[in-house]
Amino acid sequence: MSLCYLNGRYLPLDEARVSPMDRGFLFGDGAYEVIPVYSRRPFRLDEHIARLGRTLASIRLPDPHRPDEWREIIGEVIDRNPWQDQSVYLQVSRGVDDKRNHAFPKVIRPTVFLMSEALVTPPAHQREEGVAGVSAADFRWLRCDLKTVSMLANCLLRQHAVDQDCVETILFRDGFLTEGSASNIFVVRDGVMLAPPKSHLMLPGITYDVVLELAVKHGLKHEVREILEDEVRHADELWMSSSTKEVLPITRLDDKPVGTGRPGPVGRQMHAWYQDFKNTVMRSE
Ligand code: PMP
Repeated sequence: MSLCYLNGRYLPLDEARVSPMDRGFLFGDGAYEVIPVYSRRPFRLDEHIARLGRTLASIRLPDPHRPDEWREIIGEVIDRNPWQDQSVYLQVSRGVDDKRNHAFPKVIRPTVFLMSEALVTPPAHQREEGVAGVSAADFRWLRCDLKTVSMLANCLLRQHAVDQDCVETILFRDGFLTEGSASNIFVVRDGVMLAPPKSHLMLPGITYDVVLELAVKHGLKHEVREILEDEVRHADELWMSSSTKEVLPITRLDDKPVGTGRPGPVGRQMHAWYQDFKNTVMRSE
C-alpha cells in the first residue's frame, strides 16, 4: 500500500481527499516536482527543491516550507513506502476557495500533497534498441520553464506519441527544437552533442543539467545553442532525458531512422557516465 502526505498528515493514498474547490483541480493552479530515489536516497534533491521554489515564486504562491522542512517530509515519504527505488511526486496548489474565482483567494492555504511510486526506468530492450518518437508543433504557453500542474498541452502532446505507438513527442516551435512532451532532447551531429539553451520555452530539466555537467567533466564536445528542426531530422543521434527515463536513445523519428537507426556511441557513453555518476553520488551522500 502506498503511503502519501497531505497537509501535514501521512496516510494511505486511497484515504487521501482533496476538495473539488481546490484551485489545483479547478484551474491547474499549482506547482509540482518528480524526484527520483535510488536505494532510498533522493537524487539531486537540493536542485529539485530549488526548482520548486523558482516555480512557486514565479506563480506568486508563497513556498509553504523551508528547504529543510521539504527534505524532512520527502525523507518521511520515502521511508514510509516499500520500494528501494522510488519516484516521489510533490504538488503544491493554491488551495481551496469558497467560490470559483480566477483571482487568488485573499487568504491562501496551499494544499501540499506528496505520493510515491516504484521508480520504473526504461527496460533494457528500450535502452538497447532505442525508442520511436514523433514530432509536433509546440503549441504550449510561453512559460514552459515553470513546472506547473496545468499540464493539458503536455498530456495531449504525449498522447499524440502513444496513439502512434511511440514513446515521446519531440516539439518544434518556429522551426527550432524546444523539448519533448515530458523530457529534454539532445542531438548529436558529427560527434558534437547539441543542447537547446534554457529559456522560457523549455523546462530546465535536472537531468539536462547532469548531462551537461557530465559532458564538461569528460571533455565531450558540445554546444548549447538553438537547434534547427532540420538539424534534428538529420541527426546522427537523438536522446531524451528526464528523471525517470534517465538518458534514452530515440532511434526513429516520424517513422524514419535517426542516423543508422541504432543507438549511437555518444549516447551509450553518456548513459554509462550517468549510471556511474548516480552510483558514486548515491554512495557518497
Ligand atoms: N521537459 C518536460 C516538459 C518535462 O515534463 C520533464 C520532466 N518529466 C523534463 C523536461 C525533464 O525534467 P527532469 O530532468 O527534471 O525530470
